[in-house]
Amino acid sequence: MNANLDQIKEVINKSNNIVFFGGAGLGTESNIPDFRSKDGLYNMEYDYPPEQILSYSFFINNPKEFYRFYKNKCLKPMINASPNYAHLALCELEKRGKLKAIVTQNIDSLHQKAGSKKVLELHGTSFNNTCTKCGKKFTIEDVLNDKNDIPLCTCGGIIRPDIVMYEEGLNNQVVNESINYISNAKTLIICGTSLVVYPAASFVNFYKGNELILINKDEVPHEENINYVYHGKAGEVFKEIVEI
Ligand code: NAD
Repeated sequence: MNANLDQIKEVINKSNNIVFFGGAGLGTESNIPDFRSKDGLYNMEYDYPPEQILSYSFFINNPKEFYRFYKNKCLKPMINASPNYAHLALCELEKRGKLKAIVTQNIDSLHQKAGSKKVLELHGTSFNNTCTKCGKKFTIEDVLNDKNDIPLCTCGGIIRPDIVMYEEGLNNQVVNESINYISNAKTLIICGTSLVVYPAASFVNFYKGNELILINKDEVPHEENINYVYHGKAGEVFKEIVEI
């Protein structure tokens, strides 16, 4: 049901067990493009669709093309990005003891940059990277500043980001913890996600309460099942509902 910001603010003010479930839309006001907005990565011209480039088989078979896309379209916007008001407001809600966990599909680590402590990254993070041969760890700077087309470890192995690529499974512990927080939440805020990337999107179905809030720029599937729906930009909305 459509709601106004006063209604959403009241639910948040009264709740002491909020869980946040977010996606790429949270990064757009920090200048990181999402996938499915009009100016998102799916609407840019490439030789291959982004979900194909960001798949495990593509990484194995075409690492050079994978890294050309990934460095330019993911790492460069992410490396120096700053958290926006939505990230900061969520951190504030956690500090006040109201927000119990952030479950995110994002790989930009902006929640941690904002200061949030309990962040469950369903799809991993671009900020950690690992040699596929010897397991040595690398930073995002190591990968971005590597002058080779494909970043290589000193042992000769290819370095891969610690993100969950398409075709790969999610980390079981992160999944179980996310489901646990969502199923025990009094209030669940869904924000900045098209809710079409599975299995992540299915986790919101574990919510059992009647304070389900959606804050999203565009419509998502099955909005009729959501208690409070507001279409708007996350940063602007959080400015209205959470004072820092
Ligand atoms: P998506 O691109 O499919 O959908 C983004 C949604 O956010 C859209 O519905 C759009 O209307 C909404 N949106 C855009 N800007 C917004 C704003 N300022 N405020 C509120 N809503 C806004 O994103 P998704 O559902 O997260 O799925 C895409 C996948 O891509 C995820 O798995 C994620 O890992 C990955 N991804 C991550 C990043 C990142 O880490 N920042 C960026 C791009 C893609």
